[in-house]
Amino acid sequence: MCEHAYRILLFYKYVNIEDPAAFTAEHLAYCKELGVKGRILIAGEGINGTLSGTVEQTEQYIRDLRANPKFHDIVFKIDESNGHAFKKIFVRHRQELVTLRHEDELDPNEISGKRLSPKEFYEQLQGEDVVVLDGRNDYEYDIGHFRGAIRPEVESFREFPQWIRDNMSQFKDKKILTYCTGGIRCEKLSGLLIKEGFNDVAQLDGGIVTYSKDPEVQGRLFDGKCYVFDERISIPINHTDEDVVVGKCFHCETPNDHYINCPVCNLQHIVCPDCEEQHQHYCSDECRTIASSKNKVLGSTA
Ligand SMILES: [Zn+2]
Ligand SMILES: [Zn+2]
Repeated sequence: MCEHAYRILLFYKYVNIEDPAAFTAEHLAYCKELGVKGRILIAGEGINGTLSGTVEQTEQYIRDLRANPKFHDIVFKIDESNGHAFKKIFVRHRQELVTLRHEDELDPNEISGKRLSPKEFYEQLQGEDVVVLDGRNDYEYDIGHFRGAIRPEVESFREFPQWIRDNMSQFKDKKILTYCTGGIRCEKLSGLLIKEGFNDVAQLDGGIVTYSKDPEVQGRLFDGKCYVFDERISIPINHTDEDVVVGKCFHCETPNDHYINCPVCNLQHIVCPDCEEQHQHYCSDECRTIASSKNKVLGSTA
């Protein structure tokens, strides 16, 4: 029996799609027929997706998507898996793949930072006078990031332009390196920095996931784990012995990188095994009280 009978795909391409609503409907029907699960966004500016399926299903998906001339050169990041990483298939039409406020919107095919291979990125990380900016959200940074990277205080990508104006202006003449999970956000983030007057901006091509797979670099200088948007929640990146835990338990602050959602307020937070048991998955006493009073009401009507 094959150990890894499943695969997880991560992919995107910024390319003009004329009728994204029609393409979305067609693509959803196709994915259901094929039997893959996951989440795909389609917009006028392109496609962004992550899918799981058997080796045969995912190979078929790659072949079929590349048969469309628009996507002939689309890059797939492939992870082996023992099962599906999603429960359902969602294919959704969105206004943009990576959302910015209208006045900040830009086309990465027209303006974007220089692309660096994992090896080039690794070398430049160690240069002097380099500023490394994490292109993800704060909760993604908190369980793992490149050593020395700036943690942006943003909860969504659309907050980046203002955050950059407020916090990065002293670095306009420095070399800026950006990175994100798979590369899609950096294409816009690096373009945004150039638009804001930064002179030397480069991005990690293919993101952390590609960096992790480079046989020479082996994820060096990445501390902790990489947050992913599927049931795995996080994946290891640094395959050398310098691998460390950088997350902290929300309750007691001991090092940990296990994320859970509060069953009441949905707050995603890191917990250690002891606190998870003690706090019964709730983020606060307040949420625990709300949950127990709801249970009482349900109990009395039953
Ligand atoms: Zn704890
Ligand atoms: Zn809560």
